Amino acid sequence: MTESAFTVVDLGGTTLRIGRYDDATGVVSAVRRVPTAGLAQHPGVPAADLQPKVVDQLSALAADAVERHGSAALGVAFAGPVTADGRVLAAPTVWGGGGAPLPLRQLLEDRLGLPVVVVNDLTAAVWRYVVDPDQQPFCLITVSSGIGCKVYRRGEVLLDAEGHGGELGHWTCDPAPDAPLCDCGGRGHLGGIASGRGVLAAARRAAQADPGGYARSALARPAPDPARLDSPAFVAAVRAGDRFATAVLRGAVAHLASAVTAVFTSIGVRRYILMGGFALALGQHYVRLLGEELERLGCFGLDPAEIRRMVVLGAPDDDHGLVGAGRLLAARGAGRTAVSAA
Ligand SMILES: [Zn+2]
Repeated sequence: MTESAFTVVDLGGTTLRIGRYDDATGVVSAVRRVPTAGLAQHPGVPAADLQPKVVDQLSALAADAVERHGSAALGVAFAGPVTADGRVLAAPTVWGGGGAPLPLRQLLEDRLGLPVVVVNDLTAAVWRYVVDPDQQPFCLITVSSGIGCKVYRRGEVLLDAEGHGGELGHWTCDPAPDAPLCDCGGRGHLGGIASGRGVLAAARRAAQADPGGYARSALARPAPDPARLDSPAFVAAVRAGDRFATAVLRGAVAHLASAVTAVFTSIGVRRYILMGGFALALGQHYVRLLGEELERLGCFGLDPAEIRRMVVLGAPDDDHGLVGAGRLLAARGAGRTAVSAA
């Protein structure tokens, strides 16, 4: 048994991943993936019945892994808002809408008998980029099928104790009554407009408005019918320099840039790390467009060179939650002292 190993979990709507985090090296190994025993496996089952299924699955897998890993603590990155004391407030992708708040940290500590930390998955991901607690503040932004964000500053991720915050994806950036719909049911939210899904919808609207332009674009080759356009085809067209696709993307990115300038002007954060499948697939093309839109809007008090340095890409893999959960446990001194809930 070594004091420097933790068991880390990334619990998403479709997949539960569990692995061993080595505190000495910061590396995650022995990762196992299983389908999450939630809505994706049991469609139509109410949240109240899915919650115990997910908890049973997680605690059984964790008990086994803790033993195998010789772990001193368990860290869970969870796909939903979580309070500071580890209560899951909602998990639409895991057990659907509804369901009472679930004291997941307490349940797991009672069953496993070791310190447990449960945090939102993006909050966990933030910790991957914390090398020194006093480092420059930064904002982690994920752009995939939705958009999320979290701000790190001086040893903490800035959130309300009830889990509010980090939801730029549900910021209303287009107040028009017919603005695009968000997954949450709201209209004109950033996540409905600038996420991967939002950009595809924008491409289809652009194709309707300019069928000739679409037909001449690189998008029309893989998808002559815009309804069949998918994310890989869109990404490939932008990467190939296609003007039609790039213009669509720029329109969406402008809204994200507007959100970034609001974060910057309100709290002065000057470093933005991009993650999420859509942003990472577009890579430097995405960073460049966002930088150009930020320059166009301006960031009060910064010169253009400073603005261009604001946005960087995160690590090009899917291990953010696992590595981050391990780093968070290490930062809280898990295995050496009691794990703080703060
Ligand atoms: Zn929304």
